[in-house]
Amino acid sequence: MEEFVREEAALPASPGEAEHPALALVNSAVTLPGGHTADLLGTPARAEQWLARRGLAPAAAGLAEVCATQLRALREQVRSLLASRVAGQPALPAAVTAVNDAMTRVSTAPLLLWDEKTGPYRATPHPTTAIVEHALAAIAADAADLLTSPDAARLTACASPPCNRFLLKHGRRQWCSTRCGDRARAARAYARRTATE
Ligand SMILES: [Zn+2]
Repeated sequence: MEEFVREEAALPASPGEAEHPALALVNSAVTLPGGHTADLLGTPARAEQWLARRGLAPAAAGLAEVCATQLRALREQVRSLLASRVAGQPALPAAVTAVNDAMTRVSTAPLLLWDEKTGPYRATPHPTTAIVEHALAAIAADAADLLTSPDAARLTACASPPCNRFLLKHGRRQWCSTRCGDRARAARAYARRTATE
């Protein structure tokens, strides 16, 4: 738990994550300086917290390891699509298929329901078994939106190695966090010092 708190602190939301759960998903695993990897979806309990914080699943949904595995699998596919978009390269067909599969596996349309007393209404049913499928569908739909919206032009990879997160650029800022910006500036200053010695 203590380690989890530390990893959370190491991963403040990067610009764009609040609007795009797909970006937040990709950024939920990061390579930290020193080669350590933080993964906010590393266990079912963490994955559950991550989804609940974003309103993508009810709290204490009772996620199993297989659910966390599905989330991590979609993360790799979406990561690959964002990387392709940033590099201006063709996408891996398997990644496109994975996003479309996640989006179409469950219906996200509110269904027509009929109450005996009050009459017709619409609601999205969330059976426990489909909680993760619904979350995956919502994230996949957001990935498709992100890649095709004007926001895609602002999508960029954090310019502070070894960080492998993405962000939506605002102005000249090209780091996912102040922590990464500080590290990049320190590295530049060090390079200047050693070049002049
Ligand atoms: Zn970064």
